[in-house]
Amino acid sequence: MANTSDYESIGLKVGIEIHRQLDTKRKLFCDCPATMSETESSTRFLRRLRPTQSELGQVDPAALFEFQKGRAIVYEADEATSCLVEMDEEPPKDLNPEALEIALATSILTNAKPVDEIHVMRKIVIDGSNTTGFQRTCVVAVNGWITVDGKNVPIQQISLEEDAARKTGESGLTVNYRIDRLGIPLVEVSTGPVIASPEETERVAKAIGNILRDTGRVKRGLGTIRQDLNVSLRDGALIEIKGVQELDLLSKAISYEVSRQLQLLRIRGELESRGIKQTQLSDKFVDVSSVFARTKSKVVREALSSGGVALAVKLHGFHGLLGRELAPGLRLGTEMASRATFWGRVGGIFHTDELPAYGISDEEVLSVRQRLDCSEHDAAVLVADSKDKANDALTAVVERARETLVGVPTETRMATADGTTRYMRPRPGASRMYPETDVPPVEVTQEMLASIKATLPPPRETVMKQLLTDYQLNKKLADQLIESEYLEVFRRVCSKGGVAPSFVATVLTENLKSLDRDGVPVDQLTSDHLESVFASIREGKVAKEAAASLLSWLSKNVNRTVEDGIQELGLRMLSEDELRRIVDRVIDANHGLIDKKGEAAHGKIMGMVMSEVRGSADPATVTNIVKARIADKSQKK
Ligand SMILES: [Zn+2]
Repeated sequence: MANTSDYESIGLKVGIEIHRQLDTKRKLFCDCPATMSETESSTRFLRRLRPTQSELGQVDPAALFEFQKGRAIVYEADEATSCLVEMDEEPPKDLNPEALEIALATSILTNAKPVDEIHVMRKIVIDGSNTTGFQRTCVVAVNGWITVDGKNVPIQQISLEEDAARKTGESGLTVNYRIDRLGIPLVEVSTGPVIASPEETERVAKAIGNILRDTGRVKRGLGTIRQDLNVSLRDGALIEIKGVQELDLLSKAISYEVSRQLQLLRIRGELESRGIKQTQLSDKFVDVSSVFARTKSKVVREALSSGGVALAVKLHGFHGLLGRELAPGLRLGTEMASRATFWGRVGGIFHTDELPAYGISDEEVLSVRQRLDCSEHDAAVLVADSKDKANDALTAVVERARETLVGVPTETRMATADGTTRYMRPRPGASRMYPETDVPPVEVTQEMLASIKATLPPPRETVMKQLLTDYQLNKKLADQLIESEYLEVFRRVCSKGGVAPSFVATVLTENLKSLDRDGVPVDQLTSDHLESVFASIREGKVAKEAAASLLSWLSKNVNRTVEDGIQELGLRMLSEDELRRIVDRVIDANHGLIDKKGEAAHGKIMGMVMSEVRGSADPATVTNIVKARIADKSQKK
């Protein structure tokens, strides 16, 4: 698809939810710092989540399924970043007023109407990412709007939420979560489903990102922002895409989703023209283990030798469709495999569009097809695992095949790093919210709103004027700084003095950008990292020329300090004594030059010295020493 009108013609509608961590001192419901741990965990505890019947009574298939899988969850914790609240051993404390303030500021900046009273709710989440089995969330404001390129984009809701624990591993039925992230305040901004193209989605996300950044109180860097998308096509389905981490993946994720839905619709059309009916897709699974008695397929051999079976099913009329690409690297067969692994917990499936392969021979495929009574128009799917799992897996495959005849199934999908998506779970039911009785409601008063309004960041034009006049930046640099994420860091660094504003601005814009272009992971840098580099320059520990290499080093060593970087990179500043010795040596080696030119030799000598000491000496200091030494020599003559 090339342009917006193409997307309009297929009725694309996108809504976006942006979640961003707030830069508060403490977490949302306890006094732990709102930061991730930098150490190994010191405590582990195991839980099995048992939601109460009333909670599950709402028939949420996703929650119910997670529950039925009987997962055990191992939580990893340490004292610095978690307490009894995160461990669900103690009730939550009051809603963090600092976080509420930031959420209200966001509401004001997006023209949303704050609610009169904040009620904290419990949202059932039983994948283990919350020790309690639910996530605490509250609506702060509703019905706002922003303007993006002249178009009015409704902001449905601004909410405040606690971030979930982060998954650190999974094996079998056990999942590991680290609870340092649990409870970090998140603001969630969700738009109405009015966005009409992938490019527009990116512009809207950027505009919302700018507003959040303008509050000056949100965290920055990979993992601090997560974007969820709702994507629907007129003839397709409403699909929820979770966890797009980077802005520039948004348009990719949407265009791939459009392609996926269009291809699925095309496949439905082909099945219709082949005259295939849902009733022709049967749950008749055939044990074809005997076909694989001497197989070279490792997967099948291992399953059979550990008491499992090779189970197969015919998909009537599906020949050639399972291998059909829906989006890069994603086929109808992949969709079926995802369902099989989710519902059947099997490693994967084999289907005849991709066979013979993986050690399965032509003869074996032929035998399987014969056993299933396949015609040349039919496909077959094979699973090798324990009988129960294989049964569940093929049931899910047939279910997915039936859905192909209906069109695009409604589901929740997970974004991958390349912008494509994978099946995650069925769409959760609507009512998953219960009041959090441990946290009292908070009234939003006119006084609160007035004081937040009074401290809101100034409009952009005012900021621009400030940068040009107060900080004496040129227009280009000021533009870049406003567009960057670093205005707040810039202000803080400059307020401490000792470094020129134009230098600070150049580092925070041009230098970081060029490091990023070179593949340095600069989005890993926190405000603390950045400020510590400027502090070491201010204190004369390192030359300002070393800023870029220090930042590059810190990006790759986020848990270490600037001092470590200075050591490791050999960026220690030379003392004046050491500089004097170097200058003397250069002057001695070039005394002819000075004899001939006198003080006019300064430039040449300076160049030679600097080529030796660049990065470990301040040029101004070097100039002074060179001048003084040359003057000495000239006088002595
Ligand atoms: Zn805590």
